[in-house]
Amino acid sequence: MKNTNTIVAQATPPGVGAIGVVRISGLEAFAIADKIFWGKKLAKQESHTLHFGLIKDEETVIDEVLVSLFKGPNSFTGEDSIEISAHGSPYVLQQIVSLCIKNGARLARAGEFTQRAFMNGKLDLSQAESVADIIAAESKGQHELAIKQMRGGYSEQMESLRQELIDFTALIELELDFSEEDVEFADRKKFFALITKTNGVIENLIQSFQYGNVLKNGVPVAIVGEPNVGKSTLLNAILNEDRAIVSEIAGTTRDTIEDEISIGGIGFRFIDTAGIRETEDVVESIGIKKTFEKIEQSQVVIYLFDSSASITNLYSVKLEIEKIKNKHPQKPLLVIANKIDQLDDIQLAKLNAEIDDVQLLSAKSGFGVEQLTHKLLDLINTGALRNNETIVTNSRHYDALLKAFEETQKVKYGLVTGLSGDLLAIDIRQALYHFGEITGEITTDDLLGNIFANFCIGK
Ligand code: GDP
Repeated sequence: MKNTNTIVAQATPPGVGAIGVVRISGLEAFAIADKIFWGKKLAKQESHTLHFGLIKDEETVIDEVLVSLFKGPNSFTGEDSIEISAHGSPYVLQQIVSLCIKNGARLARAGEFTQRAFMNGKLDLSQAESVADIIAAESKGQHELAIKQMRGGYSEQMESLRQELIDFTALIELELDFSEEDVEFADRKKFFALITKTNGVIENLIQSFQYGNVLKNGVPVAIVGEPNVGKSTLLNAILNEDRAIVSEIAGTTRDTIEDEISIGGIGFRFIDTAGIRETEDVVESIGIKKTFEKIEQSQVVIYLFDSSASITNLYSVKLEIEKIKNKHPQKPLLVIANKIDQLDDIQLAKLNAEIDDVQLLSAKSGFGVEQLTHKLLDLINTGALRNNETIVTNSRHYDALLKAFEETQKVKYGLVTGLSGDLLAIDIRQALYHFGEITGEITTDDLLGNIFANFCIGK
């Protein structure tokens, strides 16, 4: 499916900048550019060269520009492409895009440049999707991950396994043609080893999804505790701005407030919740229900208590901690004593002695906030979440991997139980189908449309 249309769009974001870039791609890219560019004849220049000149609308000079040339297939889209770097005025850029349209180009749809790159075999589907991720990356971790994926990531690994499986399937299908003679072309032992290996790879990728998701969507952290212990103040201290309402009336944080910051390249999504105190107030009890829901959804829980108010009754604090631990034994829990600016040395010693692993904090003065952020980062950087080389971040891939896993399990079972070749082949075909969903060998138009529609125009 070759595109005959030449498309144009502004590639840089809207607004004023030092420079702005208009991108043109397609068969007519050079011809159209030559109609509006005054300088050397672009169609006669070498690929990957840069040319200075004027953009003119008949006699009116629009701007002085630099034009980069890329001859297909050696361009991002695989087609002849031109990038016009102009001064970053929205008016100038708009004029240049309009001129291109006047001279035969069509305004690109969202994601159309990347879609063409995919159609022309420059990128596979998971790579195309990671282009969208790079554009959307907001932290160092997210960016590294997207880059890694664009350079090949796990799609290469999937592709080579897929190829091996295809070879075996071909042999098994060949056996079917000789069914009367009862021959075995496909060595069942080798096939079992391959399927076991494939299964393991898929399982690893499935497990990596959790970490990938953390990098992509941020780690959800719930800050819980009774009303008035200083949750909103802590959140503000972390976010360094007055996002949540701070008030002296107990129970003011009625709803949950979410915000995200990047610590050491990892995004953390903080969820400030209403207190977990029992209450009669209807509005507040809705908030409390939400607290437990938010703990469900979070990966880390910060339990905050007012050390000055509870120093004479640390027993009830211990009880709350036990409650959370019992309900969520797997979830990392940080126990934080707030308002320590109100305590004397004897009280501080008592606090340390009675509450295990308590971290001291004064949300108001900022003491202990930095240590808390380091602790959060440590939780993510250690343990199962770390050293995963290939990481799945895309929920569509995750879905396909789960299905492929199921199918390869069936194949494995079939081999063990001596299932006939024709039935075995059906299961392998199914697994291959799900592999292909990731690398893009199998795509329905719907799926494609969906993926590229998530881009913005000019990408
Ligand atoms: P929340 O209901 O848990 O969100 O509590 P808030 O953040 O609204 O804080 C309740 C009150 O405690 C406010 O008056 C804060 O100024 C005060 N507060 C919060 N943190 C500290 C602290 O570290 N020291 C002191 N002395 N007061 C604090």
